[in-house]
Amino acid sequence: MNALEEKMKQKDIDKFREDLITWFEREQRILPWRENQDPYRVWVSEVMLQQTRVETVIPYFRRFVEQFPTVSALAEADEEKVLKAWEGLGYYSRVRNLQSAVKEVHERYGGVVPAEEKEFGGLKGVGPYTKGAVLSIAYNKPIPAVDGNVMRVMSRILSIWDDIAKPKTRTIFEQAVSAFISHEKPSEFNQGLMELGAIICTPKSPSCLLCPVQKHCSAFAEGTERELPVKSKKKKPGIKTMAAVVLTDDQGDVYIHKRPPKGLLANLWEFPNTETQKGIKTEREQLEAYLEKEMGTTAEIGELEGIVEHVFTHLVWNISVFFGKVKQVSDTTEFIRVTKEELEEYAFPVSHQKIWKMAEESGRL
Ligand code: SF4
Repeated sequence: MNALEEKMKQKDIDKFREDLITWFEREQRILPWRENQDPYRVWVSEVMLQQTRVETVIPYFRRFVEQFPTVSALAEADEEKVLKAWEGLGYYSRVRNLQSAVKEVHERYGGVVPAEEKEFGGLKGVGPYTKGAVLSIAYNKPIPAVDGNVMRVMSRILSIWDDIAKPKTRTIFEQAVSAFISHEKPSEFNQGLMELGAIICTPKSPSCLLCPVQKHCSAFAEGTERELPVKSKKKKPGIKTMAAVVLTDDQGDVYIHKRPPKGLLANLWEFPNTETQKGIKTEREQLEAYLEKEMGTTAEIGELEGIVEHVFTHLVWNISVFFGKVKQVSDTTEFIRVTKEELEEYAFPVSHQKIWKMAEESGRL
């Protein structure tokens, strides 16, 4: 018997399940994706909730399922419209993978989200967490759904000191949740663990006195709840300095361009911008050189208007923002010219939405 099995043996697992599920059924928050068990809606919500807070997700979820209410609606939707509906949620590869996977469901499985692990888990972007979450919540399958929240809760319950930042640690927690999960109510069990992690067993100050599973918790008994889970620090993100310009012409039309189809923020739209280096040339000169050499555009660029910072997981963008008037544009430029009203139809990453807002507030757009 290994150390984990030894720890689990000391727990009254039946009572733990009962306490957790009873609490969840009584206390769960009313959330739009809990209105029914439609697997498509559960799936959309789980994808949105990765890396994003519940409060942020709620309005996005409502709009998204209103616009794309079924598998077929999303499968057949124009990618541009899907990205627009996701605009601001970030991590756009999530929605691209979701749409590819939904297309496969539409074509191969007649629009019905597959209930089998092998089939659902084989879809694009569906990792072990999403698989467990969707199949347990929508189809009542007793499959673990282990994310950071669940690792935090279970590390405290069982006093597990392995580093949760290491990918291989997840298997320890999957093993633990597999042993604990209810076979009668796997949906309520998994949601109960998630809910407990979200509202009671929080990272910095867990509310142990209100906790429904306190008497099962090793960390509470040992007074180590604030030391767990062990999570090694990530490397500091790199910083990229950039300059961007909101370019308009005499009619007030705006110049934008599309990012490449692969890589970070693929296929989203943005204002003209370039990476800058410290050195002999000013940011404005570097921006002018970029416009002229790479985009066949000459422009009169004003003073620095402000800085926009955007933090990705491993990278920070520090963007100096300028406003400018177009003088000449070559026919071969990659820019497109749009009216202010048309701008609303294009999906921009958050950093460029901030630039847009800056231009609106200063009356340039
Ligand atoms: Fe978390 Fe405290 Fe409950 Fe243990 S007793 S599960 S540390 S909230």
